[in-house]
Amino acid sequence: MTVTRFAPSPTGYLHVGNLRTALMNFLIARKAGGTFILRLDDTDRERSKPEYADAIKADLDWLGLHWDREERQSARLDRYAEAAEGLRASGHLYEVFETPAELELKRKKQLNMGRPPVYDRAGLALDEAQKARLRAEREGYWRFRLDQERTEWQDGILGPVSIDTASVSDPVLIRADGQVLYTFASSVDDIDMGITHVVRGADHVTNTATQIQIMRAIGGAPPAFAHHSLLTGPQGEGLSKRLGTLSLRDLRARGVAKEALLSLMARLGSSQPVELMMSLDEIAAGFDLSQFGAAPTRFDAEDLWPLTRQRNQALPFAAVRERIAALGVPDALAERFWAVASQNITTLDELDHWWRLCRDGATPVIAPEDAEFVAQALALLPDPPYGDDAWAAWTQKVKAATGRKGRSLFMPLRLALTGQPQGPDMAELMPLLQKVPGRG
Ligand code: GLU
Repeated sequence: MTVTRFAPSPTGYLHVGNLRTALMNFLIARKAGGTFILRLDDTDRERSKPEYADAIKADLDWLGLHWDREERQSARLDRYAEAAEGLRASGHLYEVFETPAELELKRKKQLNMGRPPVYDRAGLALDEAQKARLRAEREGYWRFRLDQERTEWQDGILGPVSIDTASVSDPVLIRADGQVLYTFASSVDDIDMGITHVVRGADHVTNTATQIQIMRAIGGAPPAFAHHSLLTGPQGEGLSKRLGTLSLRDLRARGVAKEALLSLMARLGSSQPVELMMSLDEIAAGFDLSQFGAAPTRFDAEDLWPLTRQRNQALPFAAVRERIAALGVPDALAERFWAVASQNITTLDELDHWWRLCRDGATPVIAPEDAEFVAQALALLPDPPYGDDAWAAWTQKVKAATGRKGRSLFMPLRLALTGQPQGPDMAELMPLLQKVPGRG
């Protein structure tokens, strides 16, 4: 049974980078008919906020990334305490007392001597009397004693990975205030919840070595790990500072279609081409983790627009019926309005522009050299409503009266009626026009 999880910390809104992680884990479970767990990593009591947890769920719901089960680390503190007891008993967890300033001093000394700044395990050498003295001064906290050997795994994206944990400091798993840190909670959860596959960002590779050791120490078998590359901006620049503007809710508010986001994220950084896919089943069917590369992946939010456009243009009328009715488009015109407007929008919000234009008329754009021609043409235009052949009949008349033809005939008329040089086929647009320039 395949079990995956998406484990965001509810300390902010989801962004495109998180989406990549969520989607990959979702797709692995979906493809295998397995279970996808949403796990909220909320042991940081100060930074975790219920409103972020709600926002994360709303974003996943919007995308259709439904989870089979929800877990919260804050509800599992007793379990972590129990697991910590086991690790103390087996000598894997040891108490330390250094202050941040003391640690910083040690680091500097090591660096000065040209040694890697790895924690020196001074805590391990303390006897009970020394610990008792220190405890009287300050709270102790707890580090995990790493096996100082290579930790290896077959990574689903990076291939074979080998990390020498002798170059890694024994991680702090429990803070002086008792807060259990992510590295530990996550390891316990992955074992307890029977997680079979973990896909996450390449920034977690070192954590993985540590977590594999923690999982073994608590008697569990580590899942299969895969680390996807981190996203960069279009120029290869780091994205971390810009991720705020790349939150899923902002992109959604700007009219990005979820199919566009999902399609792009399911393929970006893989050897498969990016193409619009309309359902998660379709995306899952073509999803192959082994096609993803280790190199940083360039992400350009602009790429979402052509996909959004393509998706919106492919929507059947039934999918937008309510939205169009809400704009106030009369039922009799709604289907034609969609047929005409859908081919001239990127986001669905732009429908509003087209309906206002049909309902209220545009502000005409008239070049000085066309002023006389347009005035003459408008005088030949009957009042709305117009039938299917209104454009043909009108332009015929204008042509006969003015002698203009081709672009010099059609473009000034389009500009006069719509205020813009491109847009819907005028013959199809005319029957939607409720108002034209110069009429009450
Ligand atoms: N809460 C962690 C994060 O958001 C989860 C990482 C993981 O998947 O283990 O980075």
